[in-house]
Amino acid sequence: MNDDQPTTLCPHDGAPRPRSHRYPQALCNACGDRSTDLAGRPIEMYNVSMSGGFKALHADDGTQCDQVTADGQVLIDGVRYRAGEAYMGGIVVQPKDSPHR
Ligand SMILES: [Zn+2]
Repeated sequence: MNDDQPTTLCPHDGAPRPRSHRYPQALCNACGDRSTDLAGRPIEMYNVSMSGGFKALHADDGTQCDQVTADGQVLIDGVRYRAGEAYMGGIVVQPKDSPHR
C-alpha cells in the first residue's frame, strides 16, 4: 500500500529513496553504508543505545573511530558529509551544510 509513498532522490548518487520530511537531503542507505572517516578508512555507524547517541567504529577492526564519533564528518567517494543520530533513532547522513539536524 506504499505505491503512492512520496520518493525523492539521494543527493549523492541519485538513487530513489523514501522521502523524509525531517531529513529532505538525507543520503540513501547504500551511500551511507559506504561512508569512511576523513582518513578514508571504512566505518560503521551505530546508535549507542535504544535511547539514542551516536558512535562510529572502524569497519576493519571494530575499534572506535573517535574522529567520526566526535564530529560526524564522513567521506563518501571523496565528498564530505555529516553523519549523526536520526531524530527517531538510526543514522542519517546529510550534506555537511544541511540546516537540518
Ligand atoms: Zn545514494
